[in-house]
Amino acid sequence: IEQTAFQNDKLAMLGKIAAAIAHEIRNPLTSIRGFIQLLNPFLIEIGKQEYGRIIISEIDRANDIIYEFLNSSKPSAPMKQAVLVGLLLKETILLSESEAHMKGCELQCEVFDPYLMIAIDVKQVKQVFLNMLKNAMDAISEVGNRRKGRIDITARREGAYAVISFRDNGKGMERSTLARLFDPFFTTKEAGTGLGLSVSYRIITNHGGMIHVESQVNEGTEFLIYLPCTEGKE
Ligand code: ADP
Repeated sequence: IEQTAFQNDKLAMLGKIAAAIAHEIRNPLTSIRGFIQLLNPFLIEIGKQEYGRIIISEIDRANDIIYEFLNSSKPSAPMKQAVLVGLLLKETILLSESEAHMKGCELQCEVFDPYLMIAIDVKQVKQVFLNMLKNAMDAISEVGNRRKGRIDITARREGAYAVISFRDNGKGMERSTLARLFDPFFTTKEAGTGLGLSVSYRIITNHGGMIHVESQVNEGTEFLIYLPCTEGKE
């Protein structure tokens, strides 16, 4: 619990710093990007257009990181709205389907209670779900082609909570990874920011929910998201 308060402080501080400097960094990045594009004909002439592509993709990556930092600074009070869990999942999956298809991984979704309803900030919780799916796909790509990638999403009611499970058959996690999973900036990926799960954690706890994880190396991972459900029709 202490750890959690510390993590949230760290995120809040990160947000303030990000907001203060993002603007100052983005402007020069934008002009660098523009000038590199102007230099492109010369790069082609000397057969080094590859350098230009690398510079631009690295600038875009820096911009993405700034964007994610800014995102984590968003005011944390959720704008709540009652939604059916099934519909929310359907919408989220639709957004990830083409990427999953491209990566050759199968997405399966089963909602055990069609009337299951939660009062949530749709944008924030969608961001959490998308993040779960993205991480699952990354974990699947990292195992290579040994088996068909598969992500199973289920939703059910458990007492006062809606439980949404994201289970993948990706590379799984070592204990040392599990221990640091929700730390801001903790990542095992070359191009990761380590912000996805810390921001997800903050969003879910702000909604009065929690996140559980189970994982086994080379077998896969399951994230369980608990969100308080509103009284829907049984
Ligand atoms: P990022 O995706 O930028 O690394 P996250 O905070 O979303 O940041 O994730 C932190 C780390 O947790 C990842 O780098 C990865 O090692 C691990 N992780 C998260 N989800 C999964 C998963 N489904 N399977 C295996 N490892 C995962």
